[in-house]
Formats: sequence, structure tokens, C-alpha cells
Amino acid sequence: MLTALKPQPADKILQLIQMFREDARADKIDLGVGVYKDPTGLTPVMRAVKTAEKRLWEVETTKTYTGLAGEPAYNAAMAKLILAGAVAADRVASVATPGGTGAVRQALELIRMASPDATVWISNPTWPNHLSIVKYLGIPMREYRYFDAETGAVDAEGMMEDLAGVKAGDVVLLHGCCHNPTGANPNPVQWLAICESLARTGAVPLIDLAYQGFGDGLEMDAAATRLLATKLPEVLIAASCSKNFGIYRERTGILIAIGEAAGRGTVQANLNFLNRQNYSFPPDHGARLVTMILEDETLSADWKAELEEVRLNMLTLRRQLADALQAETGSNRFGFVAEHRGMFSRLGITPAEVERLRTEHGVYMVGDSRLNIAGLNRTTVPVLARAVAEVLRG
Ligand code: PMP
Repeated sequence: MLTALKPQPADKILQLIQMFREDARADKIDLGVGVYKDPTGLTPVMRAVKTAEKRLWEVETTKTYTGLAGEPAYNAAMAKLILAGAVAADRVASVATPGGTGAVRQALELIRMASPDATVWISNPTWPNHLSIVKYLGIPMREYRYFDAETGAVDAEGMMEDLAGVKAGDVVLLHGCCHNPTGANPNPVQWLAICESLARTGAVPLIDLAYQGFGDGLEMDAAATRLLATKLPEVLIAASCSKNFGIYRERTGILIAIGEAAGRGTVQANLNFLNRQNYSFPPDHGARLVTMILEDETLSADWKAELEEVRLNMLTLRRQLADALQAETGSNRFGFVAEHRGMFSRLGITPAEVERLRTEHGVYMVGDSRLNIAGLNRTTVPVLARAVAEVLRG
């Protein structure tokens, strides 16, 4: 039986990590994988997380099973963080999931159960795992235009044209903030237009919120999600705590389904059912830390302060990189780097140029020229800018 299995294509980002590890050059720069790194290159455990872990060790008396939908306190704390009371609690069903990926997967399975013929529309480009999970589940899929490679901004006109052609009951997968891989995001006016378009067509948004707090701040980053959640009858939200709590390996996420109050019980039962089929109880450790932090005023304030440091560090690096690229290339071609938000920007250089950055300069970024801003520091920004300028000169 096992011999009948076909080889799987290698994950490009994981491949890049391997190549980086094997590169002996001391001055190599890793801008590939999407984890936050501080200026010393470390992905730290956040202070509030460490404190919560110590406390948890003292107070935890059992490791018996938790609730099938997760601990109710976690789900409530996350709904508050994301929605801030924008939606009546009796319209909100939710399940804890293993990471944001688990939430995306459960959302897509829920969609397939509820409406097997619904098409899921994804942005071109999007996080590659969206594509591969949708394909794996055999869900009909279409792409909508999203990114203008010339300007490095959202192709608002193309996007709105494509969204106008979405059928009632179709699903539009949106990045709530900090679009991966492009870093380009709709502005508030464009979000309003997206919301109106969804209301007109009767499409259901599935919002992937993996970077709340990494773009314009915790509240601003949730603004689009809150707008859609208040204006539309049905909204799905797949959120991750991996980045904003820095608990990547704890696998902490949540799927929130907002619908009519009368149907909430059935939606919740279906979410529970999906958890039961796929992994039964969701992981608890990370969820418990998040709950402890969000429920404790002092821990919460410390977490928010550190998250803000992380966000501002990335914004400073963006400004420095945009300036350095302008100085080195003599053009404002890369000005968008300072406008982008989140951990990533797509530079818009060719795969051959990306390859030369790697082979000639030891700079590692994904082949579509997505770079992780947090992989940089004050010393490597000018090195990258010089390398990009050199490669562009041919
Ligand atoms: N969605 C997007 C857009 C992401 O970039 C990521 C992380 N790379 C996730 C979801 C899921 O993250 P995780 O499963 O690690 O929580």
C-alpha cells in the first residue's frame, strides 16, 4: 500500500530554510520563513508568555481533557480581542484550533459541509497553504486580482471587478490585515467598498487574521474584520496567536463563525463535530497562556507593550529599507516597502534576480521576491539594499 504513494512536491519555504542552514557563509541573511526576529536575530518568548507559563506551572492541577470547542474562557477572550463586542455574543460560535492553519482548515471543511458547490475565491497571490488546502479538500476555487506589481499596492480596481462577479453563497477568502505575501492592504475606504460588494453579491467572507497587532496596531488591524462582522449576515474568521503572542509551536488558533442567533447552536454543534473528527480536543497549553494574559490587566499591558515594540521595530526597518533602496538604486521604485504592513513585502524583482541574491550575496528570500522584514536589522538593511541594486544593474 505505502508503495503506491506518490512523491509530494517540496515546500518551497521549508526548502529555503534547509538551503540557508547548509550555507557556510558567515554573512548570509535569512529573509525567508515567516517568524518574527528581534534585532539580534532571535525569536524571543514574550515576557508575558514566560510569566504566564510560570504561573500556570504553579496553579495547574490537572491535564485532563479540556472542552471539545476549547476552554470557553479562551474562546471568549479571543472573541473580545478580535471583535471587541462589535457583534452580539448570541451570534458567535467558535472552536479552538491547532494554530491559524487549523482554523483555516476547519473553516474550509465547514464550508464544504454547508455548501459543497460554493466556490472559494482567493487573492492572487495568497499564502500558498490557502491554495493547497482548498485544492486538497477538492473545493471549487477561483482567484481574484489583488496586487499591482507595478505600484506594489492593492489592485483595487481589478479586485472590485472580480468580486462583483462572485455568486451568492460563494466564499471570499480575505487577509484581515498584513497580507501575506505582498504586504499590501486595502485602505479603510477600499475595505468599505469590499464590504458593500460582499453585501450586494451575498458572498460570505472568510477572514484570515494571522497578524493582528503586526500592522497598524491591535485595534486598527481588527477594524476590517469588525466592519465586515457588523455589516454582513455571515462571517467566518480564522485567527492565529502564533505571531502576536510569539507561540508558533504551541499551535494556538481559533475559528469564529458569525451567523443568525437562531442558528448558533447548530453552527456550534458542527464546529464541535469537525474538531471531534479531525483531532478531538484542541491543544490547550498555548490557549491557556493567551487566556491568562488577556484576562490579567498587568500581563495584558506588558504583552501589548512588547507587541508594540515588535510592530514599531518592523516599521522602522521598513522605513530604513525603503530609504536605503532609494539611495542605492537612485529610484523610488521600492517606496512601497515603507507603505506595506506586516512581516512581508513583495519586492517585485524576477525569480532570476532572487536567485542571484542567494547565490552571489547569501540573501535568502522566497522565489516570488517575498522578504521577511523582521529578518533584517540595522546592519543588514544597507547590505540588502546594495545587493538588490547590484543585481538589478545586471
Ligand atoms: N494565515 C496566514 C496568512 C499565515 O501567514 C499564517 C502563518 N504563516 C497562518 C495563517 C497560520 O499560522 P499558524 O498555523 O502557524 O498559526
